[in-house]
Parts: sequence; structure tokens; C-alpha cells
Amino acid sequence: MRDCMGLHPETWLKVTEIGLYCEPGNFYIDPSGPVDRAVITHGHSDHARAGHRTVLSTAETAAIMAVRYGNDFAGTTQISTYGVPVQIAEVRVTLLPAGHILGSAQVLLEYDGSRVVISGDYKRRPDRTCIAFDPVPCDVFITEATFGLPVFRHPPDHLEISRLLQSRELFPDRCHLIGVYALGKCQRVMTLLRSAGYDRPIYLHGALLALTKLYAARGIELGPFSVLAGLTAEQLKGEIVLCPPSALADRWSRRLPEPVSAAASGWMRVRARARQKGAELPLVISDHADWDELLQTVEDVNAPEVWITHGREDGLLHALAKSGRRARALSLIGREEEEEDS
Ligand SMILES: [Zn+2]
Ligand SMILES: [Zn+2]
Repeated sequence: MRDCMGLHPETWLKVTEIGLYCEPGNFYIDPSGPVDRAVITHGHSDHARAGHRTVLSTAETAAIMAVRYGNDFAGTTQISTYGVPVQIAEVRVTLLPAGHILGSAQVLLEYDGSRVVISGDYKRRPDRTCIAFDPVPCDVFITEATFGLPVFRHPPDHLEISRLLQSRELFPDRCHLIGVYALGKCQRVMTLLRSAGYDRPIYLHGALLALTKLYAARGIELGPFSVLAGLTAEQLKGEIVLCPPSALADRWSRRLPEPVSAAASGWMRVRARARQKGAELPLVISDHADWDELLQTVEDVNAPEVWITHGREDGLLHALAKSGRRARALSLIGREEEEEDS
């Protein structure tokens, strides 16, 4: 493990009401309100907000923000490539792949002899929609802990997808309606279906189309997909339809042939949540690190000190203390308990 050489990062990287603020660079990371200069880790709405004067992000994140908020989502946008450092005032800033969704990044800050990595949201398992998480050694690792409890162990994705495909064989006259978040989960479920050999067109609720087209335009292989418009219930028998989680229970789904309702989320591990979402077929597919991945990642980056931004902080604090690391909960405001991306 490394020792901090100069000023301790606590003295220059501060928790404010709107998020983490890097003083010697005069910028915020994923601020929850408009600021002069923001570094954005990824396009989910609890991290990427419109109205900053200057945004630094990957090209993919900027493209996602433009789809969601319009081309004028920020005053100016500075595009950063993974692994290529950018100097902001006195701080060297490098974006690194986070493996969470298309364009998602960790932020490496180097200042006064210290290296701090802000993970953003991340996961460690393979995902054909984005570049895998790149663990880099640091003095302070700032991690999320959405699933920071030992009960959260996500099963292998392919097992969850095979349960879906088995159900489809069991009920050939029904359609399968899967609640998925529009950014990331939707496209990931599509690639998982393709990896499992499913080659039928995948039908989408209109709210999922724009971001899915963006993924396809960025070279992610999703196979044939289209919106439902014009299709009859008869034509949708045996098909797989994706919709936002909120549409699972609404009137929109009544036109479908006896849909088997499913939902893809890390929260589907919790039966009460699955019931509350109206998911007969809960699929535990998450874009966040599970308990084992969180602990493994701390090992991999080998940081003597870990700060936890949000999530189930207590479990992780306890485990880190046992492993002899200094750990601290930041309890950032504005990171929803139920994120749009879990
Ligand atoms: Zn996210
Ligand atoms: Zn998040």
C-alpha cells in the first residue's frame, strides 16, 4: 500500500451539499446542481444533470446527455479519452473505464503526490455494452456501495437469461414483458439475449428507443429491434418486449397477449421488491458491483483508505475496518436509494 506524500486528500477534496468538490482544480464531480465546471462519470440522471457551464466527460456520456437534455445540455463540453490525462488548474484528471454503462468512467485525480480514484457507479462482470472496469492503484478509493451487504450476491447473468428463455418455451402463447431501465439495462439485456442465441427481433416500448439507437450507432451489437407500433396481440405471442419498469403495471401493457411480467435489477434479489414491482419473473441482473465485487475491487486498487459515497455504507465500513483499512462514509445527498440504474 502507498502512503500519501503531501497534503492529505481530505484537505483538498471536499464533500459539499451538491457533491464532491476538488478545490485545487475548482471543479465538482457529478454535482447535483449547476456549477461552473463539472466532471461527469456517466449519463444516469443522478450523476449527469443539465445546466453546467463546462462539462468534462467521455464522448459517449456527452452523447447520452445530448439525447436526454438536448444539445445545449452544458455551456461547453470537453471530451476526454480513457487513460489520457487532462490538466485542470493544478490537478491531473484521467478518466478510466468503469464497466457500468456505455461511456461510464472512474475519475483519477493526481495532486500534490496523492492519487485519488472516484469510482462512480461500477461493476466487474463482463458487459458487451461497455469497456471493463480498470482497477488502478491509489491512495484513496472512493466507491459506491449500492449493494454493500453480504446478502447481495448477483448470480451469473447467463443463468438469469436462461430462466427467461425457459419461461418463454413454457408459455409460447404469451409474451414476456421485461421492465428495464432505459439507459444501460435495456441494452445490456438485449446483448445478453443475443449471447444466449436469441435471434428474434426484440420489441421496445417507445421510451427505450432513442438511447437504444444511440448504443447501436456507437457500434454495440444489439441485433434486430423495433417499437411495437402497429403490431397486434396475435403477432406478439411468444415475443420478448422491453419497457421501462413503470410501464409494467400501466394501461400500455393491456394490448399485449397475457404478458408474463419480468424485471431486471439487482433489487430483484429482494422478494418484497419484486412483488412490489409486479414482477412474476424477477431477474437479478445488475449494473452495480455486488458485495464480493466491492470487496475484490478494494483489494485490486490496494488503497489504504476508502471513502463510500452512497448505498449500504455500514456493512462495507465494517468489512473494511476488519481488513485494516481506513474507511469513511460520505453519505452524499442526491444519490437515490432506488437508482434508475440498479
Ligand atoms: Zn449509474
Ligand atoms: Zn448512480
